[in-house]
Amino acid sequence: MKTSVKDEVQSRRTFAIISHPDAGKTTLTEKLLLFGGAIRDAGTVKARKTGKYATSDWMEIEKQRGISVTSSVMQFDYEGFRVNILDTPGHQDFSEDTYRTLTAVDSAVMIVDSAKGIEDQTIKLFKVCRMRGIPIFTFINKMDRQGKPPLDLLAELEEVLGIESYPMNWPIGMGKDFMGIYDRYFNRVELFKDESDNPYIPLNEDGELEAGHELADSQLYEQTLEEIMLLSEAGNEFSEERIANGTLTPVFFGSALTAFGVQTFLDTYLKFAPEPQPRNSTSGEINPVSEDFSGFIFKIQANMNPKHRDRIAFLRICSGQFERGMTVFQSRTGKQINLSQSTQFLADDRNTVNEAVSGDIIGLYDTGNYQIGDTITTSKDMFQFERLPQFTPEMFVRVTAKNVMKQKHFHKGIQQLVQEGAIQLFKTVRMEEYLLGAVGQLQFEVFEHRMKNEYNVDVLMERVGTKVVRWVEDDKVDENLSNSRSLLVKDRFDKYVFLFENEFALRWFTDKNPDIILYNPMDMK
Ligand code: GDP
Repeated sequence: MKTSVKDEVQSRRTFAIISHPDAGKTTLTEKLLLFGGAIRDAGTVKARKTGKYATSDWMEIEKQRGISVTSSVMQFDYEGFRVNILDTPGHQDFSEDTYRTLTAVDSAVMIVDSAKGIEDQTIKLFKVCRMRGIPIFTFINKMDRQGKPPLDLLAELEEVLGIESYPMNWPIGMGKDFMGIYDRYFNRVELFKDESDNPYIPLNEDGELEAGHELADSQLYEQTLEEIMLLSEAGNEFSEERIANGTLTPVFFGSALTAFGVQTFLDTYLKFAPEPQPRNSTSGEINPVSEDFSGFIFKIQANMNPKHRDRIAFLRICSGQFERGMTVFQSRTGKQINLSQSTQFLADDRNTVNEAVSGDIIGLYDTGNYQIGDTITTSKDMFQFERLPQFTPEMFVRVTAKNVMKQKHFHKGIQQLVQEGAIQLFKTVRMEEYLLGAVGQLQFEVFEHRMKNEYNVDVLMERVGTKVVRWVEDDKVDENLSNSRSLLVKDRFDKYVFLFENEFALRWFTDKNPDIILYNPMDMK
């Protein structure tokens, strides 16, 4: 059945999961895909992560199931919605691409391990969501294990992340005493260990279980009621508007491993998560249902196989409708490009492909045409979407060409890879040494690999270590302030940047030099 672009766009929900490794991202993703019917067996996504299947097996599996589980985008249909989950690689794969993925989503789901609370990587990813002002939904996981008291976890959200919360449901006990959740939104209790088909017990008008239910007399339930009362009196008020602007996070408790609370989460999430929103461009706001096709590249994946130098550029569609073989403008260069060589991260079936609209992600074969942040559009205006934000690198290497005779190739390679957004380049002010900055080790490895394979240059990379990075507001700064603990460098736009040895060095410096205004582009507003 043919539906309008408007209907299609309204059905899209595109999000990423932000979490620290081991919080349960893979497990939750898998459970969500199960509900969406996109996979039949639990363990499928997990097996991919642990490399249990060879890639060819995966391609077979993808064909059978009509979804791509190996790629960075997973899609499923559920209750009239089309859900896109974008993967945010962590661990060793953590890179600027992980951050950039967050520029391509309309909301984020933050998973918190109930025993560990808010962890490092979660904080970093949260900051990027904050910068964009997108809604953030919190899933507190592993309630089947003993964790921190729920009220402490809410306090942590506020103290560590500076975001207020509204618990949509509340746990009744935890660990081996975990009985289920008290659902404030659906006004029901959902039982954890339930033998019957229906784990839901409706609550009465006062939000209580009818007397006589065995749980009604339990101490754990009593405690939950007390805490609910406390939340109602002293907690934040529910506000759809504040959820939408990302200043209030709805909080859900559950256990991804046992699939408990996951469907409740999904149902509620879909009620409040935004459909694709208009985006700013050089021609003003671009409406997602407008006729002209447009989108931007947020990630370029290089092929690590030296026999295949092609890459895939990931495009987030922002308006119009994608059609295979369509001709578009690349706004940066004004060049026309035919998109016959596009790949879809979904079933290889015409209908699905033709339905790709705002919110969806497509992969474009790239022979070196695209840069991160590029806009492509059918509009003659050739507008460009807002530049992607600058992310603060944390680790640095000093880089030189192994063979001095290869300087020309070396410079060309660096220029191109930096422009493409693969890595950030800095030059020390005195010696004009090249430093590369990244948010994860993987970026250096990809850089080294591509320099060798695409520019035929062996590079030497010398570890400089992690730094606390601050840009200088002013265009002038006394270059004599540069020393080993506060190294002054210039970024590729010739802006001054200090690389501090650690937080302490930063504080010492700001105390001594109160006139120099420093900023971190990723600081929370
Ligand atoms: P990721 O690194 O965030 O993708 O985390 P995984 O989904 O791989 O989970 C990390 C570990 O936590 C695995 O051993 C999971 O089985 C376990 N895990 C995930 N969710 C739960 C949960 O709800 N309860 C318990 N007890 N373990 C969980």
